[in-house]
Amino acid sequence: MLTRFAPSPTGELHLGHAYSAVHAHNAARGTDGQFLIRIDDIDGNRSREEFVSASLADLAWLGIGWDGDPVRQSARLGDYAAALEALRTRGLVYPCFCTRADIAASLSAPHGPSGAVYPGTCRSLPDAERERRMATEPHCWRLDMARAAAEAGELVWEEIGQGPRAAEPLAHGDIVLARKDAPASYHLASTLDDAAMGVTHIIRGADLIASTDVHCLLQALLGLPTPLYRHHALVCGPDGKRLAKRDAAASLASLRAAGIDGRSLAADLSADRLPAGYSLQNP
Ligand SMILES: [Zn+2]
Repeated sequence: MLTRFAPSPTGELHLGHAYSAVHAHNAARGTDGQFLIRIDDIDGNRSREEFVSASLADLAWLGIGWDGDPVRQSARLGDYAAALEALRTRGLVYPCFCTRADIAASLSAPHGPSGAVYPGTCRSLPDAERERRMATEPHCWRLDMARAAAEAGELVWEEIGQGPRAAEPLAHGDIVLARKDAPASYHLASTLDDAAMGVTHIIRGADLIASTDVHCLLQALLGLPTPLYRHHALVCGPDGKRLAKRDAAASLASLRAAGIDGRSLAADLSADRLPAGYSLQNP
């Protein structure tokens, strides 16, 4: 068994991250497996080196050890570009020149079902217009979802303990796979990395369950294995809402500063016991 924890260095880790890391770590260690760390630092505008070292210090405080050096997405841009090129050669992606608002959102992990689906504005532009606009206009690359899903055929993934599920990527529309200033979206980078790292079990928050449809499709298109998945409940704060990076009181740095013992906290989280005021909820 090989599991991973993949923080984005755009803020401090909080109790929700700790819960996920503890469960992924313990699953691997319980079977003599491996546990890897990946730094999802593909968003160069928001990633900060100080959050990389802070995240690793938080994990060490929890008593979590990892195998090998942390993998950095920023060191894997060539692999992302090669995969995108392969999909482009097969006619499965196209350039999109629409405004940046929804494109920016593609860089970070989506939470919950995606909102508006891209209407396909740029899907059928004439080749000559594409060539002309690509030379001068910023653009992202979108997956032609209908074509991709048809090529991939029937898709199935397995939620551990619950059996097989059919993946239904069509509902996501033509998702962004790359943009000009960041050569892979969360979906593409995460899928390629998990395969390259040899991840066999993905243990992550239930907010990402919808993304599994897309990841399963990309695995099929790119000839990658589909790992097993476990989507766990989310840690919510005293207000009943899932924790976010703005919830400073729940940051691991705050808890450590308050004198809490990291290893005891990890043992509690492993047994689904949370500090007073916090709870586990399924979205
Ligand atoms: Zn467009």
